[in-house]
Amino acid sequence: MTIVNAYAAQNATTPLAPFNFERRDIGNNDIQIEILYCGVCHSDIHQVRNEWGGSIYPMVPGHEIVGRITKIGDEVKNFTVGQLAGVGCFIDSCRVCPSCVANEEQYCDVAMVGTYNSRDKAGNPTYGGYATQIVVDEKYTLHVSEKLPIEGVAPLLCAGITTYSPLRHWNIGKGHKVAVVGLGGLGHMAVKFAASFGADVTVLSTSKSKEQDALNLGAHHFAVTKDPETMKSLQGKFDFILSTISAQHEYNDYLNLLTLNGTMVVVGVPPHPSLVGAFNLIGKRRSLAGSLIGGIKETQEMLDYCAEHNIVSDVEVINASEVNEAYERMLKGDVRYRFVIDIASIK
Ligand code: NAP
Ligand code: ZN
Ligand code: ZN
Repeated sequence: MTIVNAYAAQNATTPLAPFNFERRDIGNNDIQIEILYCGVCHSDIHQVRNEWGGSIYPMVPGHEIVGRITKIGDEVKNFTVGQLAGVGCFIDSCRVCPSCVANEEQYCDVAMVGTYNSRDKAGNPTYGGYATQIVVDEKYTLHVSEKLPIEGVAPLLCAGITTYSPLRHWNIGKGHKVAVVGLGGLGHMAVKFAASFGADVTVLSTSKSKEQDALNLGAHHFAVTKDPETMKSLQGKFDFILSTISAQHEYNDYLNLLTLNGTMVVVGVPPHPSLVGAFNLIGKRRSLAGSLIGGIKETQEMLDYCAEHNIVSDVEVINASEVNEAYERMLKGDVRYRFVIDIASIK
């Protein structure tokens, strides 16, 4: 066992604060990683504040982890000490169900083990990446290129794969008119990927001040969703909408923007449900779908694509002591475009 320094939430209402806990020693197939950077995902806020229910405390959040390997188990085959490695939203799954066999462990029929706020197969709570070190089975660990700035790579482990996966699944590319709703951590990665795949990309945002950034990120158009006239003018315009909105909103407002046979994929997870009007779907044979992160194989494919095409997240690096303030800024939509914790600030 190793004592690890971290930042944790003790309950749903008090600020995150320094904490330490014991990490297990490495098993035969495990890798021990000294964490260098960890991204701050809006899912961290939802879970820290128990907005989805069932939160386990104390909670060490963080599932956008990049670090350097300090130890490997005797049977580890694909990693060596000194390499960079990444860990995303889950660290285990049943490994034998059809989803796991199909490399879509995030949809495991039994239970994927979350990187934090979850329980491992022995029933112990899992602790995430706002911490100096993590131990993970190599099967659930990603290779990270030395070519890219690693603080910008960390958010790829969740924000990156969560947007890459649906764009790939729905074969988005040249000839598609895509709208990305919400320009935050997920949204800005969606813009980068959709533009890189050749789509015509529009950002739909509540923040007029993000217009120039949206264009710099690769979007071709920008519209403010608070303006009813603009929303009216966009009706029926998009083949594909990726919604990353983290807070309460009406799906109907966006479904109307889809063209015939268009699809809206929801990746944002507001705590409360939205009503969906049947007419908004049947009128133009529209589809409403959802998507959850991505499997390990596809996450590696995404990381390799980013290394090849020089894609990273636009980040604001913070000390761990600034994380509570970062949460407040994210809740105001004031993030450009991902906070990433420099884990050296915890040591
Ligand atoms: P984020 O960085 O805080 O960005 C969310 C953006 O949504 C904001 O920047 C804002 O963009 C927009 N927004 C916020 N409140 C809104 C409202 N009331 N109406 C319209 N737009 C609003 O969050 P994130 O880390 O990208 O995460 C987004 C959501 O995805 C969260 O719910 C998170 O839990 C979820 N998530 C899901 C998955 C998955 O696998 N499906 C994975 C990771 C995260 P503008 O300023 O541009 O309007
Ligand atoms: Zn996340
Ligand atoms: Zn499974």
